[in-house]
Amino acid sequence: MMDLVCYDCGRTADAGARCDCGEPRWLESDASAFDWDDCGDMNSLWRYADLLPVEPPDGVGAAAGGTPLVRTARLDEYAGCRLWVKDEAANPTGSFKDRGSAVGVARALENGQSWVGTVSHGNMATSMAAHAAGSGLNCLVLVPSDIPPERLVHVARYGPEIQQVEGDYGQLYYDSLDLSTDLPGVRFVNSDTPYRVAGQKTTTLEICEAFARGEPSAPRATGATPGESDTPEAPDAVVLPVSSGGHASAAWKALRELREAGVLDVDSVPRLLLVQTAACDPIAEAYRGGRDEVRPLADHEVGETVAYSIANAAPPSGNRALAGVRDTGGAVVSVPDDAIVDAKRQLARRAGLCVEPASATTLAGLRALAEAGEISPEESVVAVATGTGFRERTDSTGMEPATTTLADLSERVTSLVESG
Ligand SMILES: *Cc1c(COP(=O)(O)O)cnc(C)c1O
Ligand SMILES: [Zn+2]
Repeated sequence: MMDLVCYDCGRTADAGARCDCGEPRWLESDASAFDWDDCGDMNSLWRYADLLPVEPPDGVGAAAGGTPLVRTARLDEYAGCRLWVKDEAANPTGSFKDRGSAVGVARALENGQSWVGTVSHGNMATSMAAHAAGSGLNCLVLVPSDIPPERLVHVARYGPEIQQVEGDYGQLYYDSLDLSTDLPGVRFVNSDTPYRVAGQKTTTLEICEAFARGEPSAPRATGATPGESDTPEAPDAVVLPVSSGGHASAAWKALRELREAGVLDVDSVPRLLLVQTAACDPIAEAYRGGRDEVRPLADHEVGETVAYSIANAAPPSGNRALAGVRDTGGAVVSVPDDAIVDAKRQLARRAGLCVEPASATTLAGLRALAEAGEISPEESVVAVATGTGFRERTDSTGMEPATTTLADLSERVTSLVESG
């Protein structure tokens, strides 16, 4: 059994997601003896079973992770560096949240719990509902009472119990954790809870393994096409969109474990670069102010944004994410909606990747960092495209397809091809 440890004050505990000091706990795994040769041969997050707190499950949970790492050279100039995109859309429900849900739900099964729950109306709720369904568990999704029903269509497909809750949505996160403690049969797997973080650290393990093996164009160790010869043993930086800070904390945890294992040199640990939407950027604000503590934003300080998946005004792992940034010499930036929309378009048109706006912030953030001189063209950087753009509803294609007849088709195509 792994210990729950507070990253900040170091106190350990047997249960509970938060320390008495107020900061989040994570699971301390002993990584000192870990080596890439210890990986299993499955193409999923379960290849890192030695660093995970649960045994591999059956069903959809077994399919989480193992996503492609795509070299996107046609975006290098736009990004201001040598760019790879980690395509988390390849997960079972289209986002990296499946990594944490797979581990959290597997833990509930091991514990004999019959209910799992989460506080979300987006990708995390969809993911939890799917993994619970695949494991035969009941799932409780807590959402704000003012949510428009169309926001829940992707969640509802998997048949969870959806409960609307009136009152402060930020407080609901903490109250749901208390429910987990009071009701032994129920496990809440929220955005930054220890088992979710354990699962989500595998995004970074996969990225580092691909570089370490010199095959960073493929997700897998074996049977991959060899990468470029001038590729370093580890990326210079990993870029993540950040909201609650759960995924960023997990990335930091992975880097700490690889450093502890000695498979990453102290000098070659990638910098953690985090990106927020300018409409809601409490972590970037603390970073800019040189502070270690994130101040929650008041309602009037939060604006509308296309990056709806990353608009957490009171991030429960904000301080921890910031600590990870400082420890790795990274940075936090925020980007406005027009830059996000443009980056999303570039990802589709120059890399063939359809990502959700929250994920496109990574490319927009890199561009801003390159302009500020914090990234240079020869650096190798991985942007984590956290979620698919296929779920987005848009009313227009933004183009008007021309019409021709079967009789004129050949002439029409000939003239198209000749015009370039
Ligand atoms: C949840 C989510 C994020 C933010 O992750 P946190 O762990 O909350 O910081 C980013 N992108 C997408 C697509 C998400 O669903
Ligand atoms: Zn503590």
